[in-house]
Amino acid sequence: AAEPFAAPVVPDEDESGALWTLRDFLNAVGGIAAGEPAPEITGISIDSRTIEPGEAFFAIEGDHFDGHDFVRDAVKAGAAIAVVSQKKIEEMPRGGPLVAVADPLEALRRLARAARQRTKAQIVAITGSVGKTGTKEMLRLALSRSGRTHASVASFNNHWGVPLTLARMPADTDFGVFEIGMNHAGEITPLTQLVRPHVAIVTTVQPVHLEFFGSVEKIAEAKAEIFSGLEPDGIAILNRDNEQFDLLQFHARMAGVRTICTFGVDQPANAKADKISSQTGCSCISATVLGEEITYKVGAPGLHYVKNSLAVLAAAKLVGADLALAGLALTDMRAPKGRGAQTRLKLPDGMLTLIDESYNANPASMRAALRLLGETPVKRPGRRIAVLGDMRELGEMSDALHAELRDPVVEAEVDKVYCAGPHMHALWETLPAAMRGAYSEEASGLRPLLLADMRNGDVVMIKGSLGTRMGPLVDALIKEF
Ligand code: ATP
Ligand code: MG
Repeated sequence: AAEPFAAPVVPDEDESGALWTLRDFLNAVGGIAAGEPAPEITGISIDSRTIEPGEAFFAIEGDHFDGHDFVRDAVKAGAAIAVVSQKKIEEMPRGGPLVAVADPLEALRRLARAARQRTKAQIVAITGSVGKTGTKEMLRLALSRSGRTHASVASFNNHWGVPLTLARMPADTDFGVFEIGMNHAGEITPLTQLVRPHVAIVTTVQPVHLEFFGSVEKIAEAKAEIFSGLEPDGIAILNRDNEQFDLLQFHARMAGVRTICTFGVDQPANAKADKISSQTGCSCISATVLGEEITYKVGAPGLHYVKNSLAVLAAAKLVGADLALAGLALTDMRAPKGRGAQTRLKLPDGMLTLIDESYNANPASMRAALRLLGETPVKRPGRRIAVLGDMRELGEMSDALHAELRDPVVEAEVDKVYCAGPHMHALWETLPAAMRGAYSEEASGLRPLLLADMRNGDVVMIKGSLGTRMGPLVDALIKEF
């Protein structure tokens, strides 16, 4: 038989290795190009400080900065092209590779839409009052073992973070993982409709941002907006142990969701932990996930990571990843800085364990962190020390919610409590005298007292809202020891 003709080798656009060909990019964003843009775009950036040569720069206007002021820097750093507003074209560097559009943020959304349209990836979106980033990181690890996985960076979860993440998704992605956040009602709807997830996870609904919402029911309703973007036959993954479960389920049904998958540790659920043992720096879990039994380890400590891991494994299984591999991957999970990262510090007379929770605080994560402190073993005469700063954005209920931390503090068998911030005074007043370390209006006021108090064997957990400035206390301890 005659040899078949060898197929001519034509480079396929999709296999060029570029994130976007210039042609597809310009088709998506629209607008007129000037200068000499590179034929291929290797990445998408909105920050001239971190942009890499070959990436496209979008000049986005934020609350504090206007990206147009940094177009020159971006071009100098090697941007393949910069997407700018027609209104500001006069101020732009002459001769640079530019595209002028009516609205660069809308152009980024259009590129995001094109990325979503061209992909065959299975998409998971994650929202919730707390635990989005931790869950996203675990899911990224879990899915990476089964396919090419693309996920949000850090907490890029808002009106620019979500389209940016989507626009960065390579065409050959198998799994996409998106964090979606909000501070106000109505913010999730346009983001979930951009992402169009096959699976939507709500980690938990808790009283955070109360000053914008007024009630936890209103928060549940706003989180439930995520279901409005689900693909037909999309699946909602809900926390069975959350007080707002019934309400969320109702909203999911209202949005036309037919399949709901539950996860939890207390009540029967589709993904349920049957046995949990917490160890130093990690947890061991035996669970049943959608009918399949699995034993695995999560390399970040705390019951909240255990709970979130069940949502992760359910999602992994639902999008077709290998459950056993997903479980194995969670061993590599580490709590990020400011969100539970643990460090051992050397004192003149021994060792100290520092739990850094300084990035954020609300009643839910405060309780989780206190429980984690309680679960962390101490070698006597070492002590459990909680250094607690204000939880912000809680509105009228704030003082009461601070005072209510007394029970979790007592249950965690904390030996000594340091408090900082005007609202934390409400907790301070309820504490038994024997437990009181020191109170200061400003976190910085605790610094010398804390440094002087550290002893061999102590476990110190530092937590507060970012604005309370607990982070510098963590840094001070690390620097001193
Ligand atoms: P942000 O809105 O700031 O992006 P996020 O939802 O991404 O927050 P994470 O960064 O994952 O949340 O976690 C924030 C804090 O909440 C961490 O300290 C974490 O340990 C804690 N946390 C995570 N999950 C839960 C949970 N289910 N219940 C209580 N606390 C939790
Ligand atoms: Mg986050």
